[in-house]
Amino acid sequence: MKLEIALIPKSSWYKGIRTILTNDQVEKLRGQLFAKANNICQICEVHTESLFFTEEYKFDDIYLTQTLVKFIAICEDCHLARHMGLATIKGKYSRAVKHFQKVNDLSINEAKTIISAAFTLWRHRSNYNYYIDLVPIMFMGLDF
Ligand SMILES: [Zn+2]
Repeated sequence: MKLEIALIPKSSWYKGIRTILTNDQVEKLRGQLFAKANNICQICEVHTESLFFTEEYKFDDIYLTQTLVKFIAICEDCHLARHMGLATIKGKYSRAVKHFQKVNDLSINEAKTIISAAFTLWRHRSNYNYYIDLVPIMFMGLDF
């Protein structure tokens, strides 16, 4: 799937790169990422002046580890679709679902099944404390 739903377990909320980088470093990182993206969403490839910066993680549900994989610059709609919970809070759930369907070429039923499975997994993961491994940031060739 081109556009994945990325729900972060509750125990990991507010514990991303901002726990190890200063605001200035985050801004510098964002600047580098946006310059590289050149106003193109790195998921759906739409041209936009307003990109969002997001972290991508991989999860190991046996060792309860959440490992930073990369940073991506994405459009608002992809950001909403990746963070369906946030989209709901913002009253933009149906917009997020439509975009999720369009980018992944899914029927509404297929989309709803995948979204529902993502929330089930999120609820399961939210019962545990994940160790967040941010060490890969050292090997991404970033200057911050
Ligand atoms: Zn996009």
